[in-house]
Amino acid sequence: MTATQDPDHINQKKYGAHDIPSYLDPNHIGPYEIYLEQVERVTPYLGKLAYWVETLKRPKRILVVDVPIHLDDGTVAHFEGYRVQHNTSRGPAKGGIRFHQDVTLSEVMALSAWMTIKNAAVNLPYGGGKGGVRIDPRRYSTGELERLTRRYATEIGLIIGPEKDIPAPDVNTNPQTMAWIMDTYSMNVGRTSTGVVTGKPVSLGGSLGRADATGRGVFVTGAEAMKKLGLSLEGARIAIQGFGNVGEAAARIFHQHGAKIVAIQDVTGTIHSEAGIDPAAALEHLRRTGKITEFPGSEEIQKDEFWSVDCDVLIPAALENQITLANADKIRAKLIVEGANGPTNPAADDLLAGKGITIVPDVLANAGGVTVSYFEWVQDFSSFFWTEEEINNRLDRIMSEAFLSLWEVKEKHNVTLRTAVYIVSCTRVLEARAMRGLYP
Ligand code: GLU
Repeated sequence: MTATQDPDHINQKKYGAHDIPSYLDPNHIGPYEIYLEQVERVTPYLGKLAYWVETLKRPKRILVVDVPIHLDDGTVAHFEGYRVQHNTSRGPAKGGIRFHQDVTLSEVMALSAWMTIKNAAVNLPYGGGKGGVRIDPRRYSTGELERLTRRYATEIGLIIGPEKDIPAPDVNTNPQTMAWIMDTYSMNVGRTSTGVVTGKPVSLGGSLGRADATGRGVFVTGAEAMKKLGLSLEGARIAIQGFGNVGEAAARIFHQHGAKIVAIQDVTGTIHSEAGIDPAAALEHLRRTGKITEFPGSEEIQKDEFWSVDCDVLIPAALENQITLANADKIRAKLIVEGANGPTNPAADDLLAGKGITIVPDVLANAGGVTVSYFEWVQDFSSFFWTEEEINNRLDRIMSEAFLSLWEVKEKHNVTLRTAVYIVSCTRVLEARAMRGLYP
């Protein structure tokens, strides 16, 4: 299908020639196009700050690196790596690193831009950044992944640092990956530098509560939205796409609060149960058998059927561009809480808004992870560590206060919650931009 035949594709003609950087293909902009469309939508609400809006469309700095490693079989393989610092107006760049076979520059650009919006939405003193390596980590040994991570960390070591740009886990990376990056960076600079990454193991400067933080934030904002919509948590039927760090924790915490997990989809398949799935047992099953399907008491359904499952709350917690015009019409949920980054494209966003379905957007719903990353970074700087209770209380407060104030903005302007978040975040970023001015 060509770009112009694709109903989800945004007509690039409406962007001025200077709006699309020459390093992206104008006929196939990729995920960054979704972000550009979101900025386009918010511009009328920015008043005089719209003068600076081009700032938001252009990443500040992009580093593309070659990552060569010795494979276990004695050959050499090369991988493509990226680190994009989208914006640093409000502080150092901050955002995760993803290992995935489909990583592209456009995707990392979009993810870094969403970090700028997300960090401003919960008022963290950060800009936005993101990194990625184009690799399917399931096909490589632990030793190969360690060599890849260390070489990538050395290559991006030119631009990362505790006061410059602070990576964290994202899709297919974890505390072990962060430990390797922290160690490699530390070896290269000649001192142990725990603050260079967050999401580390607790034994080397990681924070309690970080592992569950994103899922917990999905729960807190989702529960606040349910209150606004008059939905009760008790017995609420939840369908979750993705059963990794975000989806699993969100499922577990919703379940602990009386909600019923009626469907789970991950890379291995899709399961459904009217009676409800116990997430802890499902995780145990996944670990033991390597797949989510054949979980006792559930039936396997087709991949596409997931979207039409009868539920109250839908939580996409996997990858971007999952909810499109191809499936948005089938969705029966009253509320969508975006655990993933960029799961809904703008055309689907409009369709869902038209159907009266509320969306808690990614840049708010999944901000719990980076919020506890911020706590981790602060704890590393002060070498003083907080209790899990303190961390969870602070996280819950930040997430629910952000939700409630952004909901007010949504009501005031009569816009979607996504546009409300963009209004507040873009205003914060561009106010900083305007006050700082242009150098020289
Ligand atoms: N990768 C996570 C996100 O997309 C966390 C980023 C961070 O903690 O810096 O928000």
